[in-house]
Amino acid sequence: MAYHYDDQNIFAKILRGEIPNDTVLETEHTLAFRDINAQAPTHVLVIPKGSYVTFDHFSAEASDAEIIDFTRAIGAVCRLTEVSPDAGNGYRLIANAGRDGVQEVPHLHVHVIGGRVLGRMLQPAR
Ligand code: 5GP
Repeated sequence: MAYHYDDQNIFAKILRGEIPNDTVLETEHTLAFRDINAQAPTHVLVIPKGSYVTFDHFSAEASDAEIIDFTRAIGAVCRLTEVSPDAGNGYRLIANAGRDGVQEVPHLHVHVIGGRVLGRMLQPAR
């Protein structure tokens, strides 16, 4: 399968420094920053620095080093923002993909959301 990456997406511009961001954590392969339209007191987006559209793209083509770095960074953000159940009250991770996933920005991002009770996972189907 060939994945197409659009390097004009907003997160690519953030990674190139063309648009500012509120950084929470930066590692060799990963950037985490606050969502501009936070849905909860904690709402951080964790993105790989590499050009990956979705989680399935990343898992198929990223290096082991990128996958390890990204996975560890997500956990670090949970601890840094104190939503980890060890320090806080828990969180939800979301990675939207494609049309049915209602993905707005076509660069892989994991939402780390917490700081309030989030309710059920999905809305009932309409
Ligand atoms: P998606 O629907 O693709 O999973 O989520 C995209 C997220 O990116 C949304 O929650 C939206 O608020 C956030 N977002 C869109 N543009 C920007 C931006 O320029 N800066 C930041 N920090 N977040 C953005």
